[in-house]
Amino acid sequence: PAVIVAIDGPSGTGKSSTSKAVAAHLGLSYLDTGAQYRAITWWMANNNIDITDPTAIAAVVGKPEIVSGTDPSAPTITVDGVDVSGPIRSQEVTSKVSAVSAVPEVRARITELQRSLAASAEAGIVVEGRDIGTTVLPDADLKVFLTASPEARAARRSGELKGADIHTTREALIKRDAADSNRTTSPLAKSDDAVEVDTTDLTLQQVIECVITLVEE
Ligand code: C5P
Repeated sequence: PAVIVAIDGPSGTGKSSTSKAVAAHLGLSYLDTGAQYRAITWWMANNNIDITDPTAIAAVVGKPEIVSGTDPSAPTITVDGVDVSGPIRSQEVTSKVSAVSAVPEVRARITELQRSLAASAEAGIVVEGRDIGTTVLPDADLKVFLTASPEARAARRSGELKGADIHTTREALIKRDAADSNRTTSPLAKSDDAVEVDTTDLTLQQVIECVITLVEE
């Protein structure tokens, strides 16, 4: 039977790197749900939708076609056929994504895409996000919740952003996590039956091995 693995946690805990490596190692599909929320946010920004207006967002939520490629060695994301894997990492999208993903209609639309991808993954799938264990796939075979100190998370993020100021990165990251944790519809949260892994003092390789062991148990 297909294996479903849910990996949640705030930004900078190593969710993406860990999820991709675990999926590749176990021959499973991989879904980055943050990329889907970033993609719909990119479309909203590109179409001049007022992102401070949830009604305006809800009115157009069905318009963009968002397609995720789930091969862990080469994940892809397109909006209306256009590859947006670069633009969705921009600072503009990063600063707007929490507001867009707090809109219930956005979450309903993206959650439906996520469930249908999970249901069609033959061997199974590793799905990473904020609400996968609590809301999207509550029957997952394994749920992992990754954490790390704010310092470690900011250091990893500024490493990725090459030269970005660590204090600015830390503030932006804490602000985004607070917004994601405080929204009313499926906030960032640890499911009661999730295994919590604090990655602060672990190498990426150690986190990957830890999750693989948990899947195989
Ligand atoms: O994982 P990443 O940092 O790319 O996610 C970008 C944003 O997408 C998060 O800050 C959050 O606002 C939103 N998100 C979400 N639910 C998920 C995954 C991401 O609301 N399952």
